[in-house]
Formats: sequence, structure tokens, C-alpha cells
Amino acid sequence: MQHTLQAFKPLLSKPANIAIIIHRNPDGDAIGSGLALQAFLEKTGHKADLISPNEIPNYLKWLPSTDRITIFEEQVAEAQKILKKADIIFTLDFNDLSRLGGAFTDFLKQIVKQKIMVMIDHHLEPSDYAHFQFSNSNKSSTSEMVYDFIVDMGFKDLIDKNMATDLYTGIMTDTGSFKFPNTTPHTMCVAADLMSRGINHNQIQIKIYDSFSLDKLHLLGEALNKLVFLPQFKTAYIALSKADLRKYNYQKGDTEGFVNYGLALEDANFAALFLENDDEGVRISFRSKGNVPANEFAKKYFNGGGHKNAAGGRTKKSLAEAVALFLEKLPEFKSKLIQANV
Ligand code: 5GP
Ligand code: MN
Repeated sequence: MQHTLQAFKPLLSKPANIAIIIHRNPDGDAIGSGLALQAFLEKTGHKADLISPNEIPNYLKWLPSTDRITIFEEQVAEAQKILKKADIIFTLDFNDLSRLGGAFTDFLKQIVKQKIMVMIDHHLEPSDYAHFQFSNSNKSSTSEMVYDFIVDMGFKDLIDKNMATDLYTGIMTDTGSFKFPNTTPHTMCVAADLMSRGINHNQIQIKIYDSFSLDKLHLLGEALNKLVFLPQFKTAYIALSKADLRKYNYQKGDTEGFVNYGLALEDANFAALFLENDDEGVRISFRSKGNVPANEFAKKYFNGGGHKNAAGGRTKKSLAEAVALFLEKLPEFKSKLIQANV
């Protein structure tokens, strides 16, 4: 396994067939980094296709060229053809092939040995499928890493307005608009450089955070009413059932950001959002302040993982059982929950 750009660079010295893949339920960072990398590879003479396991959420469809993304779940034959033909496969914004989900994970595991795999990711504990592993959990986002990758390859001038919009969106969404602890001086320098490339940063902010449907706002109202606070564990959680979601005509992405409201409580160090899902049982999002390891909790009890302050997981249990398991396990984490060192 290689970790240096020096070792990787020769692979892009002649035109290659490249596939880029991002994680299931892609967010702004996955889609932003994927689109920017695709544009960069095309500008440098390669054939590059971007594949998402499932659909692009509505709040990100406005990003330039999302209509070119192949959706594995909807276009299985086409996606498999692209992957079979690829010489090089980039995997962005995830640390394990299981994050593709179901049939996509199975398919990739079959071909992974025949391909040159390149990981660019900022999650902890990368698994070892990649020949070239660019993994750094100190980075705010994969978009910041793709920016660094392009600059380090010597092509900073190729970053145009659309690519800057993609990368800025990824960094902005993964840092909660530059307020999460993962925001570094370098992150701000990257954002400043992207801003200087003609992007409309205020419009990006509006498209993502001030473009909600009335149904989404009403669903948020319902979620806030359902918020439970457990002061003894400095923990807040919200559980939404399929019926709750149906009542407000739920669209994919509508609950994006809801989990953060739990953490907005002055005395909360840990927040969870439980979502009852049609296909996957219950999806859980975790957020934390300071030193509380949300990823540890997600990994240990909910088949998930992520970052220290933002993690996710899932269970096949019912919604009530999932919440019961959460309540049962909180005492084991109590000392960590109380001493967050915020
Ligand atoms: P979200 O709550 O926004 O879906 O996810 C928060 C963070 O946790 C993201 O950075 C995401 O990559 C990570 N994450 C979410 N679900 C999972 C999961 O099932 N496994 C792992 N390893 N990470 C996850
Ligand atoms: Mn990310």
C-alpha cells in the first residue's frame, strides 16, 4: 500500500479509464468532492465517471453536473459496465466498502483485486482495500483533501468556478459552515482560495440551508416537540417513525441537520436522531461536543462509525427497540458524556 502522491502520479501520466465512487446516502462532501475530482480528471485528459450507490438528495441536485452521476441502484447494468472497464477506481469520503451498501459492496468486492484502488477519505480506521491510500482524519472533509490533491498534482489553476462550487459546498456542509472542531486554519485558506474563483458563497448557503419546503419545516417542528433531554447523561435524542415522516410528505434529505438541534441545548454533549426507514430498519445519526466519541458509540452498539463528533449507524430493530438499546447503553458511556471538556 502506498501513501504518497509521488508514487501515484505516474498513473495519471497517460489517459486512463477512471471510475469515482462515493458512499451510500451521499452528502455534500461526497457529491462535492466526487464532482470536482471528475471535472479535474476530465480536464487532464482522462475518462471519468462518477457513481453514487443511491439517489442524490434534492437539496444537492442544483450542484453543477449532478445529472451526469450514475446511480448504481437505478442503473445497475450501466454502473457495472463502467466499473468493469475502469483501470483506476477512486473511492471518496468513506473508509470501508460496506459503506456502499448491499449489492454495490458485493459487486465491488468481486472486482477490487483487478483494479487500482485509490482512497481519498477523512474518516478514522480506513480498511485496507486500496493500493493508494490518502486517508487523514485531521482533514475537515474529503473536499478539502481533493483540493489538496489537485494542488499537489500541480494543477491548481485548473480549479474553475464549478469545481470551486463543488468543493466549497463539501467543505461548508462537513464543517457545519466552518463551525465544527474539524475546521482548521488550512480549511479557511482553502475556502478563501475557492471563494476567489468566482463562486457565489451566499447562494450556496441559501440553496442548502434556506431552501426548505414547508413540509420540512413542519417536520422539524414535530421533531423538536419530540426531543427528549436526559440531563443525567447530558444527552438529547429525537425518534421519528415512518408515520411521522409520511405525515409531512418526507423527501430524502428532509431530516438533514435535525440531529444538531439536540446539541444546541446548552447542557447537551451528545445527541441522537433515530429515523425509521423502509429498507434499512432504523438509521441513527449521532453528534457530540468536545471529547465525547460519537463514533465509538455508533460502532459499538449500532453497526456504524464516523468521526468523533459526527457519526452514524443502523439497526434492524424496531424504532422502540433501537431507542431502548440506546437508553440501556448510555450508562456505560456516562463518564465520557459528562466530561466532554467542551
Ligand atoms: P450522518 O449522521 O450525517 O448520516 O453521518 C455522520 C457521519 O458519520 C458522516 O461523516 C458519515 O460518514 C458517518 N457515518 C454515518 N453512518 C455511518 C455508518 O454506518 N458507518 C460508518 N463507518 N460511518 C457512518
Ligand atoms: Mn465527509
